[in-house]
Amino acid sequence: MSLLANPSPSGRPTDHFPPAEELDRALRGSSPAEVIATALGTLGRERLALVSSFGTESAALLSVMAEVDPAIPVIFLDTGWLFEETLAYRDTLIATLRLRDVRSIRPAQETLSLEDPERELWFADPDACCRIRKVEPLQRALAPFRGWINGRKRFQGGHRTAIPVVEQDGARLKFNPFANISREQIEAIYRLARLPPHPLAASGYLSVGCMPCTSRSSPDEDLRAGRWRGRPKTECGIHTAKTPSDGVAVAPPDMIRYVPV
Ligand code: SF4
Repeated sequence: MSLLANPSPSGRPTDHFPPAEELDRALRGSSPAEVIATALGTLGRERLALVSSFGTESAALLSVMAEVDPAIPVIFLDTGWLFEETLAYRDTLIATLRLRDVRSIRPAQETLSLEDPERELWFADPDACCRIRKVEPLQRALAPFRGWINGRKRFQGGHRTAIPVVEQDGARLKFNPFANISREQIEAIYRLARLPPHPLAASGYLSVGCMPCTSRSSPDEDLRAGRWRGRPKTECGIHTAKTPSDGVAVAPPDMIRYVPV
């Protein structure tokens, strides 16, 4: 049985998607490219997005996606606290991989003025800071889409140890093409595709997020040990909060769209 949604008479996929559990069973042993191709065939490009932090391992997933279809929309959460090196890396990867639709999403200015006028929320209440800078902007950005792809891996540990390849996320399908992949396989993708490293990787940053919440790690530490160091927090919330259903009133995202010239 084909896993792809039944095409409508217009040739476009319908809204009758296979259940996440069925897709997960079928894709458990599939390669990342096969997972992305199935996501694309099931939902169609207009209803599928990939969410990327343009961090130290992001180029691997983006390069696999670009091989399948470089025009799949890519959502990048520009929190206002990112390293300049990450913004430059985004631009490098757009050019290197010829990504055709990268959308940089910013937090709502009104919310920032109300809830974090002094830009100290990251220290006082990092969960609230991640909510207004990441979780809520992503919810607005995902409103037009019925599914999203992300780069979590089981080897990252913590909440990620048991992630499936496909899961239900509220009204959306969530695809984890790298769930089964190893750190060595990520390195092999970088090597084979000659992907440029994140500019901060050579300075000891194994995982890169926002500037105030990222520190260097030693090679024997967990990959994400440098994130929110010294705090109990290990996730920003975009993977632990379900995205809202269609029909939830959301303001349009404050977005800058990068398309090739
Ligand atoms: Fe704020 Fe830190 Fe979360 Fe970035 S990672 S949104 S600075 S708490």
